[in-house]
Amino acid sequence: MKFYKRSQTRKVNIGGVIIGGGAPIVVQSMTNTNTKDWKATVKQIKQLEKVGCEIVRVSLPDMESAYNVSRIKKNIKIPLVADIHFDYKIALEAIKQGVDKLRINPGNIGSKDKVEILVKEAKKAHIPIRIGVNAGSLKEVHNFLDNTLRAKALANAAIEHAKILEKHDFFDIVVSLKASNIDTTVQAYKIFASKRNYPLHLGITESGTIFSGTIKSSAGLGIMLYDGIGDTVRVSLTADPVEEVKVAYSLLQSLELRSSGIEIISCPTCSRTQVDLIKIVSDMENRVATIKDLRKLSKPIKVAMMGCVVNGPGEAKDADFGIAGGKDGGILFKNGEIIGKVKPDKWVSKLVSMIKDRLTNSSED
Ligand code: SF4
Repeated sequence: MKFYKRSQTRKVNIGGVIIGGGAPIVVQSMTNTNTKDWKATVKQIKQLEKVGCEIVRVSLPDMESAYNVSRIKKNIKIPLVADIHFDYKIALEAIKQGVDKLRINPGNIGSKDKVEILVKEAKKAHIPIRIGVNAGSLKEVHNFLDNTLRAKALANAAIEHAKILEKHDFFDIVVSLKASNIDTTVQAYKIFASKRNYPLHLGITESGTIFSGTIKSSAGLGIMLYDGIGDTVRVSLTADPVEEVKVAYSLLQSLELRSSGIEIISCPTCSRTQVDLIKIVSDMENRVATIKDLRKLSKPIKVAMMGCVVNGPGEAKDADFGIAGGKDGGILFKNGEIIGKVKPDKWVSKLVSMIKDRLTNSSED
């Protein structure tokens, strides 16, 4: 049973991936390579595709980067978004190069007439635009110290910008209202969601490292997702963007909004632990993140990895597959039944092969 009801938003098509209109929440990320180096950018996007990234954004700080858009697009499978600040001409070039969506920032893209030129071209090419309002670059926000007033300034900026697009009958709009403060961000999204039904791209900007950023993003995004707000997420981390995708899936899965295909249950370890469980589970997480087609499963496969035979078997029995650690190896469970013993160095490979078998069987159903 779900504890929230998702807001009704418009459906926007980003190069074949739907955002909004009740579609599953889309996971996206952003490259941190130099876009001028298109080969390095493609390489990173391929790594992101492997862990389930569904839309990827690249920043285009200059024309040279924009000229690479079609090259990058030709070599990747997921839709490509161009992130543009300051120079609307770079956005025009990105459209020419066949980009799937533009992300512009009303705080810095320039005068209304430039935005209007951009809107006309985007409309001709059927390319959606994300209005990405960011507290850091919006001077109106800095007039206030109060979070509510800052949130209103963020939401107003997005609405004013949306009006320019709407004036040209342009409605393929996605909106984000990011601040690094959770209270400001949540209030801004709520204000905007009460006034417009454009799909919302959620994120807490500049949230920090894998550790602190995951916590901050989960707290902020969790509040909004619980309230039914949000159609796509990007977890911003000062880290390899692959981590952003893994965190996003884990967050959405914990709220039963998406399935990463796998749920790993592992104990916190204690003096009874008889295997190097911390390392084994971490290896397991890395291995399963790249199993192809896992995310197609509507219900995740539950795998328990437990450190001892005291509390381990209970959890392992409840899972689809489970191992409870013992001195001579782990007791292996499948659907609640003991089916054998596995040495600690074979736990990951054994469980991965069982998961792959399950996947093969489920696709044959
Ligand atoms: S399952 Fe065993 S090893 Fe793990 S925390 Fe519980 S008692 Fe300790």
